[in-house]
Amino acid sequence: MPDLPGWRKIKYEEDLDPGFADEIASIPGGEHLFNCIQCGTCSGMCPLSPEMDYTPRRIIAMIRAGFRREVLSSYTCWLCASCYSCAVECPKNVKITDIMYAAKRLAIREGVAPSRFPISVLAREFFNQVHSKGRTNEGRLIMRLYMKSNPLKALKQASMGLKLWMQGRISIGSESIKRKEELHKLLGAIETERMVQKRDVVTHKEAR
Ligand code: SF4
Ligand code: SF4
Repeated sequence: MPDLPGWRKIKYEEDLDPGFADEIASIPGGEHLFNCIQCGTCSGMCPLSPEMDYTPRRIIAMIRAGFRREVLSSYTCWLCASCYSCAVECPKNVKITDIMYAAKRLAIREGVAPSRFPISVLAREFFNQVHSKGRTNEGRLIMRLYMKSNPLKALKQASMGLKLWMQGRISIGSESIKRKEELHKLLGAIETERMVQKRDVVTHKEAR
């Protein structure tokens, strides 16, 4: 049997990540994760839940149960429109939108975000451009988005892109900020802070 997400119906204890919930709960916005009573209000309020592979209520349950791989490789967090309806109506103050953001960040960092899904591709390419150049270039961003999500569509849009470029509406030139090393230091500090938080979660869990 191929080892694809969602292929195996039976989940074994050893496949789960028992530290996943603590990790998410340690991220700002995730602190009320364990208060969820699985009432389903968030799923009922969410305008995108019919399109999601797992509803918001289910995502919270899966995080708490340790379904790391399924949560991080799902489409749900990428479909979240950050409308905050779920967080506003949640009777237990679970900040579901922030949890969706946390899942997106982890999915990109671990390279498990849906690989050809336009929303996750755009987020990843945006981050990569900012990380390497300190700023983004719309023309390059759009080209990479199409090439990595749907190259055939890139061909269909090529003439329009060419017209925009000839009229000076988009640029494909690469621009970069000065003193990129300071930006990298800043991003590195954020990453270090995250690693410290993660280590503290593991230490705290082992001490229990
Ligand atoms: S509305 Fe809040 S308490 Fe209810 S299922 Fe959603 S997250 Fe849990
Ligand atoms: S913030 Fe996201 S998960 Fe919550 S209701 Fe809006 S679209 Fe749905």
